[in-house]
Amino acid sequence: MNNQQNQGRFQALQGYFESEPQPRLSAKTIQLILLREIHDFTMLRTEATGELNTAITPKSITDHTPTLRVVFLGSKQKAPETRAMRAELEEYFSIHELFEDNKYKVMEKCEFQKDLCCTCPRCILMGAAIMGKANIKHRAIYKTAYSLLPFEELETPITFNAINDASMKTGQALGAFNTITGSTLVPSIVSIQGMTEYEFALLIKTIIKTKDYGARTATFGSVRNNFVGIVAGLEQIITPLELTLELYQAINDKKDISVNTTKDILEKYKGFASTPDKVKVFTSDEIINTLKGVRDWNFFDSNAKDDVIRMCDHALAFGKTVRG
Ligand SMILES: [Zn+2]
Repeated sequence: MNNQQNQGRFQALQGYFESEPQPRLSAKTIQLILLREIHDFTMLRTEATGELNTAITPKSITDHTPTLRVVFLGSKQKAPETRAMRAELEEYFSIHELFEDNKYKVMEKCEFQKDLCCTCPRCILMGAAIMGKANIKHRAIYKTAYSLLPFEELETPITFNAINDASMKTGQALGAFNTITGSTLVPSIVSIQGMTEYEFALLIKTIIKTKDYGARTATFGSVRNNFVGIVAGLEQIITPLELTLELYQAINDKKDISVNTTKDILEKYKGFASTPDKVKVFTSDEIINTLKGVRDWNFFDSNAKDDVIRMCDHALAFGKTVRG
């Protein structure tokens, strides 16, 4: 697969990618809108005391009554995903025998929170620092997310089958919710800046595959990440708190929690952007096609070796600019 063929892989996002990672942070921003479906509360507790992490928020976007919500800290969302990304990369390195070439050996050892290589695609994308040597700013931004329902309503059972109902195709592509307690849904946003197409694919693959969150993942902390929206622009269009308060309002207005509801919310916030004409809100078909494009891009395939090499060459070059 060469450069030419790759261009246009994600049609709906043309104009929002960089051809290679830029040391100077680009304004091009893509926000992935997720409903994190949490299958137990372990990862929402502080490890020291076991207490739930909570915050006082408005009740909804129109009702400002102070209301307690459970929070999912950005750091707790990011940590397992950054580890999973490195694990995914190691599979690519192994299958394509990358370390046969001495050039790439510098990225062979990269231990999270210990000895980051500052040259692999993970370090370049998720950020890395070596005291006195390098400081790579992350381009994937994770922020605190707030439970869809207020704490007092956590046990309220809610049926989320709207995505499944929208059309068979939508249900298959995005994952369908069955009847689950409302407490298990946390709207969340991963914002990404100045990404290449292959970094975008790598990050989405990572988010799709990561299921274990929290400290004791052998027995606790399962999460399924559902994509319910994508918006691209030259700035962040919406914050996780706004997303939660808008979706909660939608429930109160008897709307479904669906891709179409999320799209309406994103269209509203597009109007608040500095230049709305530069903002693109994805339709449900565009989300489906984008996720299909990610899934179909098989980095394990021998045909994709050039893509993996290009990803690594760009990361090496980027690493050199910050490491000297
Ligand atoms: Zn690394």
